[in-house]
Amino acid sequence: MEILDISTSAGNGVATVRARVQPRGAAESFELWYNFEGLDKPLDGVNEAVAAALVVPCMAEGEPLSMPGRVSPIFLANVAKAQRLLTGWYDDLHPVRVRCPAHDGVARHRPQGVICCFSAGVDSWYSLLKHERRVTHLLFVRGFDIGLDNDVLWRTARSNAEAVATQLGKRLVTCETNLRDVADKSRGQWGKTFTGDFWGERLHGAAIASVALMLRRMIGELILPATHTYTQLLPWGTSPLLDPLWSDGYVKITHDGCEKDRVAKVRSLAASDIALATLRVCYVNTPEINCGRCEKCLRTVMTLKLCRALERAKTFPRPVPLAELRGMIIPSHLRHHYVALREEARRIGDMEMLATTEILLGERRSAVQASARLRRAMRGTVFGQVLRTVKQAWRTATVSPINAHRYGGPGGATDSDWKARRSSVADHKG
Ligand SMILES: [Zn+2]
Repeated sequence: MEILDISTSAGNGVATVRARVQPRGAAESFELWYNFEGLDKPLDGVNEAVAAALVVPCMAEGEPLSMPGRVSPIFLANVAKAQRLLTGWYDDLHPVRVRCPAHDGVARHRPQGVICCFSAGVDSWYSLLKHERRVTHLLFVRGFDIGLDNDVLWRTARSNAEAVATQLGKRLVTCETNLRDVADKSRGQWGKTFTGDFWGERLHGAAIASVALMLRRMIGELILPATHTYTQLLPWGTSPLLDPLWSDGYVKITHDGCEKDRVAKVRSLAASDIALATLRVCYVNTPEINCGRCEKCLRTVMTLKLCRALERAKTFPRPVPLAELRGMIIPSHLRHHYVALREEARRIGDMEMLATTEILLGERRSAVQASARLRRAMRGTVFGQVLRTVKQAWRTATVSPINAHRYGGPGGATDSDWKARRSSVADHKG
């Protein structure tokens, strides 16, 4: 892959970086772009930033990365280490050379600024509050979890981030970028298309670093909030092992928060009204801050409930019935979260949530599951036969017009009758 040129420009409060990228064997080049707002110093370190964004996709393709300008020797040495780690983790990534005309100098001193990657989620709120005294800037990115096509969510989420920055006395830096669109191999813009979670497992830490490295005149450290605890660590796109290796020597990269699990982090942020008023955990790209229906939203609702903070969490307005929580299907790789919830429910004596987590973990049957099991057990017995006869008689006697076509009982309309009625209604709508 050859980076043909990298340009920067600024105007109307927006600083822009554009890189023209030519993948090997591709008929056409593409553009990688970033638009920043809220800067108090000009951008710098763009060569390292573009290299950080594209070296992992190059590893997936097995092609070297050629840069048009110099990069820091610390960055080159770190990227070599990052590649060794990633190739040890993933068989489908291969070490590649990063070619550049000459090495840049070495940082003499780092600015005092500290930027915290901030999505308003549980992990970033925990790290922000933990390091509140030394954090000077918040970094909020569009194009990673908030899609470039989702204006409604971006406006609301950005407005919330501005309110947080104002209340805590921090400077908000926003970046809109198509980095994920062009570098996430699962999206198949060029070369081989990856079928798994390329972004989550391999790329997103390097992508966040790519954005932050361009801020090296403003900041000397990026705090990157952890997803996993030390006991949950596994090969993943951000990790305490991997993240520091995207540093260029100017910006230190700190993977933060592995010491606490998600329940402990929610308990910590539950003391902050503004955290509860802006908490955004949902990964579904909808116009809402939190959809309130996906697994992560429902899991967070359970955690907030255990932390006695659900009523104050304004971004989860929908009451979630217990039956809905108990009907969730838990992906196996998220099981540890529910084990932590079960232990918290047991610790505080919340028997309702204890039962819910035990049902979700398959350690206890729900009322619906128990009833189904009883019906299956009675199927071959005389009592079961009597029960079925009574049930059938009741259905026949009480069948309603709306259900008649389903049961097909005496006096009920047939399917064709109901189809005729529907078409008749449809005719009158016009
Ligand atoms: Zn959701």
